[in-house]
Amino acid sequence: MEKILFLAHTDTNGNLPKIALETLNAALQITQGLAGSTLTVGLVGENVQAAADQIAACGATKILGVSGADFGMSRYATDVKAAEAIGIAAGATLIIVPGTSRFSRAIPGAAFRLKATIDTHVSGIQFTEGVLQVQRWYYRQRMMATLTRAARPWILVVDSGVFQPWQGAKGSAKVEVVAATITDKEKRTKVTGVEAPSADAQTIRPDAPILLVAGAGWTKKQADGQIHAKKAETLILGFLKNAKASLGSSKSLVDQGSEGEQVLTCMSHLNQVGQTGSTPRHPKGLSTCCHGEEPHVVGWRFINERRAINTDANCGWAQGKADVLYVADAFAVMAKVNELLA
Ligand SMILES: Cc1cc2nc3c(=O)[nH]c(=O)nc-3n(C[C@H](O)[C@H](O)[C@H](O)COP(=O)(O)OP(=O)(O)OC[C@H]3O[C@@H](n4cnc5c(N)ncnc54)[C@H](O)[C@@H]3O)c2cc1C
Repeated sequence: MEKILFLAHTDTNGNLPKIALETLNAALQITQGLAGSTLTVGLVGENVQAAADQIAACGATKILGVSGADFGMSRYATDVKAAEAIGIAAGATLIIVPGTSRFSRAIPGAAFRLKATIDTHVSGIQFTEGVLQVQRWYYRQRMMATLTRAARPWILVVDSGVFQPWQGAKGSAKVEVVAATITDKEKRTKVTGVEAPSADAQTIRPDAPILLVAGAGWTKKQADGQIHAKKAETLILGFLKNAKASLGSSKSLVDQGSEGEQVLTCMSHLNQVGQTGSTPRHPKGLSTCCHGEEPHVVGWRFINERRAINTDANCGWAQGKADVLYVADAFAVMAKVNELLA
């Protein structure tokens, strides 16, 4: 019998972010899977009442909260104290946490203070003969491990996009206040503002239904012997706008800037997908002007339906890496696709 704690922080509006609602579903599944277990909710934020009301119907036995101005911002020292205080108050043996950037920084520190073991990037759960097992990937998503641990407390930091967000009616929840004592020294770090690109300049959209990947072919000489980088950029940005897609890239394309070649200004290294890049999660992916080599395609691990456009019928995508390969000129195809979408 486990004492399960779902621990989350509020966003700037006082609500729970989507990944927290996904993780709540994971915590509920674990509670149901481990007979006789109880679920407690722990919330951290400037004011946690709205978040508690948001999930009032989730079936938790109680909701604990650490709140106040000191806990509104993402700050390691105060977040660690809050998580530790809630972990102790709940007497938790299993602590399920969303892998937000804020908690990914603080929770390992809380694990140390709670003398807990911790597994991050949890991407699946299962039960074998009544024992909880979790899945996570290793070696840049090349190997998947299924593991369990006897040690308690056991903290699980859950990745986004794995579970469906919890949905339920709002209610009026009773929050039991947990005290976390903060010293002035622990408040030295202050978040003074957030610098974020404008919505149009923001090309990485984790929640987008489709990922468009652009490869180096977009900036290579085309059939007429010329490079058409400006046209490439217009076509790519046109698709992003029309399909509300997220933009990924091959390493070759994002490396070009540092190699002095003509570049697409909408690209940075943050867009790179692959072994030394990111492993985004989207229902669909469309690769354009990208060869589909293994170090790149390994980053497509979590893209469900894959299509590619390449002039080369023998490119990597043709070797069983895509569901559909269009052997065609991506400039012509994307111009037509944009026309249809518009
Ligand atoms: C240790 C290591 C780590 C690496 N990590 C990564 C990584 O994280 N991510 C990554 O992407 N790569 C990575 N690479 C590099 C990877 O092996 C490839 O070199 C890279 O992905 C190639 O990029 P590309 O397909 O865009 O370019 P290219 O290989 O140059 O391919 C361009 C493609 O565009 C096509 N093309 C050209 N014009 C058109 C057109 N008009 N219409 C349609 N198709 C067209 C061509 O046929 C060609 O297939 C790594 C390599 C190593 C050794």
